[in-house]
Amino acid sequence: MNKLALPPKVRIVEVGPRDGLQNEPDRISTDDKIAFVNLLTYAGFSDIEVTSFVRPSRIPQLADATKVFQGIHQVPGTRYSALVPNIRGLEDAFAAGVKTVAIFTGASETFTRRNINMSIDDSLTRFAVVARRAVDAGLNVRGYISVVFGCPYEGQVDAGRVVEITKQLMDMGCYEISFGDTIGVAVPTQIESVVTLLSDHIPLSRIALHLHDTRGGALANVMTGLICGVTTFDTSAGGLGGCPYAPGAAGNLATEDLLYMLDGMGIETGVDLSRVVEASRHISEVIGRPLPSKYLRAALARTNSVT
Ligand code: MG
Repeated sequence: MNKLALPPKVRIVEVGPRDGLQNEPDRISTDDKIAFVNLLTYAGFSDIEVTSFVRPSRIPQLADATKVFQGIHQVPGTRYSALVPNIRGLEDAFAAGVKTVAIFTGASETFTRRNINMSIDDSLTRFAVVARRAVDAGLNVRGYISVVFGCPYEGQVDAGRVVEITKQLMDMGCYEISFGDTIGVAVPTQIESVVTLLSDHIPLSRIALHLHDTRGGALANVMTGLICGVTTFDTSAGGLGGCPYAPGAAGNLATEDLLYMLDGMGIETGVDLSRVVEASRHISEVIGRPLPSKYLRAALARTNSVT
């Protein structure tokens, strides 16, 4: 008997090409990035975060953002997005044909200062200008809030502050806010309390959870999010990316691990798990090491043993 009230459909935002690859120490060729995004497109994602239009000196791994964006095969029905840190990034993204941009801040003062070198308020002031210009140009804007569930420098994060930042991002015209457990410390009861609080201020349909599996809690947290009515989750193919605050540890929840669970529960995503494995296999060969996704490792082990 099934007593859990779960949503019939979930949207997965694939962030591997941006959130994953930006943490890779070695340079990856533009062609390999394009092939990776194309393989993800063929897997059926409705949303793929392709790259970030940052200054090349800041994240050299993403210096080819324009070439990647213009080189990928874009299909109708898939939203291809890019992060933009400022007006210059927005202009570069716009020139590259990007139609959805993401802006980002954090929920703790110390993290935000270390990550983007300004206070939360200053980042919101800056992004209000970016978002206004993006909306005026007909672009869609997604908002990110990092360290919502815990900060590597300050520990606990004030959920009331998260609500305030959320309201400001919504006022800027964001169609969705992605709430990040950037260091992978959240537990299910916390997901429940934060989502419940947020849902008093923002429709559940505009909440995305960006969970990290650093301490093994990501799927339990997804499950809690589903029970609370959240239907959008950010994941990274193969679990690409690692945790920038704990080198060697897991970072982004792996797309395959989430998909296996959702498929098994009969929740529709439109994404083909075996094709995600192909995309992960490609990028794993490119970077020359196995990726952390548990499903991927099991799938590849099985393939290797029968062939
Ligand atoms: Mg992440």
